[in-house]
Amino acid sequence: MKTELTLYNTLTRRKERFEPLTEGRVGMYVCGPTVYGDPHLGHARPAVTFDLLFRYLKAEGYKVRYVRNITDVGHLEHDADEGEDKIARKARIEQLEPMEVAHYYTERYHRAMEALNVLSPSIEPHASGHIIEQIALVERILEAGYAYVSNGSVYFDVAAYDRKHRYGRLSGRNLEDIVLNTRELDGQSDKRHPYDFALWKKASPEHIMRWPSPWSDGFPGWHAECTAMSTKYLGERFDIHGGGMDLMFPHHECEIAQSTAALGCDSARYWVHNNMITINGQKMGKSLGNFITLEELFTGSHRLLAQAYSPMTIRFFVLQAHYRSTLDFSNEALQAAEKGLDRLMKGFEALAKIKPAAQSTVQPEELERRCAEAMADDLNSPMVISALFDWVRIINQAADGKESLTADDIARLTETFRRYAFEILGLKEQNAAAGGRDYVTPLVEMLLAERLKARAAKDWAASDRIRDGLAAAGIRVKDRKEGTDWELE
Ligand code: ZN
Repeated sequence: MKTELTLYNTLTRRKERFEPLTEGRVGMYVCGPTVYGDPHLGHARPAVTFDLLFRYLKAEGYKVRYVRNITDVGHLEHDADEGEDKIARKARIEQLEPMEVAHYYTERYHRAMEALNVLSPSIEPHASGHIIEQIALVERILEAGYAYVSNGSVYFDVAAYDRKHRYGRLSGRNLEDIVLNTRELDGQSDKRHPYDFALWKKASPEHIMRWPSPWSDGFPGWHAECTAMSTKYLGERFDIHGGGMDLMFPHHECEIAQSTAALGCDSARYWVHNNMITINGQKMGKSLGNFITLEELFTGSHRLLAQAYSPMTIRFFVLQAHYRSTLDFSNEALQAAEKGLDRLMKGFEALAKIKPAAQSTVQPEELERRCAEAMADDLNSPMVISALFDWVRIINQAADGKESLTADDIARLTETFRRYAFEILGLKEQNAAAGGRDYVTPLVEMLLAERLKARAAKDWAASDRIRDGLAAAGIRVKDRKEGTDWELE
């Protein structure tokens, strides 16, 4: 039976009853990673949030087509429209083909997601594989009169658009505020107004990622890819568009403008945004020294980390907060999550060992009802977790003979735990002794490859840092003549 789901829609700023455009089917698009850097803590939150939504909709019986893209072109330095493509820049510095850079980071992102038990989406399109669709989109916007060509580049005409449709609906801004808050970049621009954004950029001679187009050899603007790929795979109208709150402006605002200009309609029905993470109360950033990659988190190899945290601890920690609340990472909070997860898993194990009684003293349907209501109320995962904890307490009391559970109660509770803790929250048992090495292996191998690189470059400090980090996580590295081996302590 389907519980009536209410979702908070950023576009209308209120919780709305979720009604898919097509009965029984859901089309969902989520902005995925830009693949020029390490998968980090910031990636974990949107990935887990939309994995929760994906899992929940599937568990409720919907057929879900979940599209999450890979941004491997057009994400520029400085702002969305100026500077050098970040992947191309990395490729130039490391003397690699840009697609080597994109592939390397995509692989690492996938490995980290797998460790977090984030399901693979239904389709994972790459921006670089959809240049034709993006050119077609730009052509439609030009035909509709909401863009102009300037010196081989094409820009979205925000003022012209704003006269007919309001620009800034999603983020709640109006054009005057945007004008005041847009800084003029040094040097000349081909744009008519600083707030216009690029749909197509003419490539400078040294720019390596380039494609032919009617306007110039160049590359698409960053916002174009999500509009082109979401409509290609989900149609002109689809149900849910998700992403981090940081993408709301300008990225999602520009997506709405593009689809409205090209198709005459705003393509997504519900806009869902997860809130951001902080570390010890601060925004995460390379310059603050608190930029933590997921691999560092899983192995404890960052100076801010007191220990290694398993991927399931991270997942559980993310789910303990509602996706629209901020989430602050600290050693204390993560250690508490680790303990909590352990208590939850032990409670589930204890349930299997309880001797059934003839008479029941509990009402297991209460757990079912609370979990169903919490999930249906805008994915309230912390409420699901608190209901599960209440029942862990009851299970432990039953194990001590203070409550009585019938065989029926036990079966029902087992089923509810399975559905909510494992299927929907996506938690899994991670017994370090039994399965520990399974998720650890790819991460350790990856760090050892990094260490090998550091040693080849005679960067002994980096090499020692990786070894010590692994040691702190209980992994002993052994350098032998024939290569490096490792073992769990
Ligand atoms: Zn996007």
